[in-house]
Amino acid sequence: MKYELVIKNGIIVTASDMVEADIGIQNGKVQRIYRGLIGSEEIDAGGSYIIPGGVDPHVHIEMDVGDIRTTDDFESGSIAAVFGGTTTFIDFVEPMDGETLQDALTKRRAQADGRTVIDYGLHMTIVDDKPKTLAEIPEIVKEGVRSFKTYLTYPGFRLEDDQFIRVLEKITRSDGMALCHAENHAAIEYLRNKMSNNGQTAPIYHARSRPAATEIEAITRAIALAEVTGAPLYIVHVTTADGARAIKEGRARGIQVWGETCPQYLILTEKELERQEFEGAKFVCSPPLRTEIDNQGLWQALREGTLSTIGTDHCPFNYIGQKEMGRNNFTKIPGGIPGIEPRLALMHEFGVRRGLITVNQWVELCSTNPARIFGLYPRKGSLLPGADADIVIFDPAIQTTLSVGNLHECVDYTPYEGIAVTGLPMTVLQRGRVLIREREFVAPKGTGQFLRR
Ligand SMILES: [Zn+2]
Repeated sequence: MKYELVIKNGIIVTASDMVEADIGIQNGKVQRIYRGLIGSEEIDAGGSYIIPGGVDPHVHIEMDVGDIRTTDDFESGSIAAVFGGTTTFIDFVEPMDGETLQDALTKRRAQADGRTVIDYGLHMTIVDDKPKTLAEIPEIVKEGVRSFKTYLTYPGFRLEDDQFIRVLEKITRSDGMALCHAENHAAIEYLRNKMSNNGQTAPIYHARSRPAATEIEAITRAIALAEVTGAPLYIVHVTTADGARAIKEGRARGIQVWGETCPQYLILTEKELERQEFEGAKFVCSPPLRTEIDNQGLWQALREGTLSTIGTDHCPFNYIGQKEMGRNNFTKIPGGIPGIEPRLALMHEFGVRRGLITVNQWVELCSTNPARIFGLYPRKGSLLPGADADIVIFDPAIQTTLSVGNLHECVDYTPYEGIAVTGLPMTVLQRGRVLIREREFVAPKGTGQFLRR
C-alpha cells in the first residue's frame, strides 16, 4: 500500500526500542513501522532520530500574577514549544476569587483555542475547600480535566493540611489526580521576614529563604496525606535529592506517587543567584535552584525511575520591567524562568550525551511518561499504530549555542544563555502535518486541539 506520508531513513527511538525503519502515516495517525514503505509524500530523516513528540506536563502561558502576566501567549509559547520538539503541553486553569471552576475553564479554553499551534491539556487549580468548589470537581473531570493542582505555600493559593485532606479525598472519589507544589509555608514566611528585616534583599536570599528542608518536609507530608486519603499524587518540580528519596520511599510503601523535575534543577545551581548587577534575578524560581549534589541526586532519581517526568515549569517574565521590580527586595521579584523550548536539547546534551540517562529514558521522561500519567497515552507519547503522528526528527549531531537570539520564546533572556548543545529537533509533525520543516515554521497557526483526558 501507498501511505499518505512516509518518514524514511531514520532511527526510531521510543521509551523501549531503537530500530532502523520507516514510519507510514495515514489520516494523521501512525499506521505502520517497517522497512521499505512507500508514501505519496516522503521525508528523508537522513539517519536522525525519529521520536514521539515531546509532552510538557507543566507550563504557565499567559498567567496573571498580581498585575503582571507571563510574557508568552498561547501562540508564541506553542511556537517556541514546537521548535523545541514539544507537540503537547499541559497548562493550568487558575480560577479567580469567586469564579466557578467551570467559568474559569471556559475562559481559559477561549484564550488557547484557535491560537495554540500544538495540542494542549489543562490542569485545574484548587485553592480552597469550600463545598461549592469540591462539588464542581467531578464536573470538571467530565470536561476532560482530571488533574488538580494544589499548593502548600503562597498566600491566596495554599491549602492548610485539613483543607488539603478534604481536597485530596474529593479528587480521589472523582477519579482524578492531585498535583502538589510542596514547600513549607510557615518556615518560608519566617525566613523571608527575617531576611528582609535584616536588609538581606539580594536575589540569593530568595534561595536561602526557601532551604531544602522546606521542600523535603512538604513532600513527605503531602505523600503521607495522599497515603491517608488514597489519592494519586504527582509532585511537581522536585528540586532536592532528599525530596526524590521521599518519593522513592512512598512508592516502596505502595503509594501512588509520581515526581517531576525540570532541566533547571538538573543543570543549574543556586550559585547563579549570586551573579552581579542583579543578574541573579533571572534565576529566581520557586522552589529555588539548589546544589550540585542535588543535581546529581536528581539525575540518579531519573535514571532509576524514582522521578518519572521532565516538565519545564515555563514561566517567562522579562528581566527588563518585570524581574527588575525586585531590585531592592528579592521578595518582589516575579518567580519563574523560561524554558519551554530547549527541554529536549538540554536533556539530550546533559543527560544522554553525558551518559546519565539512556536515549530511551530521554524519550520516556520527556514524552511517554507525561502522556501515561496524564491520560494521553498511547495517543500521545508513543509511535504505536493508531497513535497521533506527532513526530520529531531530532538530529543528534548538529551543534548550536543556546541564546535568547535564537530561541522563539517571547521573553528578553534565557537562563541557558551561552550553553552549547549537540542535537536539535529539525522537523516536527503534529497529527501527520509538518509544523516545522528543517527548523522553519511552515504550518498555519492556531490549529492545536484541546485534549480531553
Ligand atoms: Zn509551575
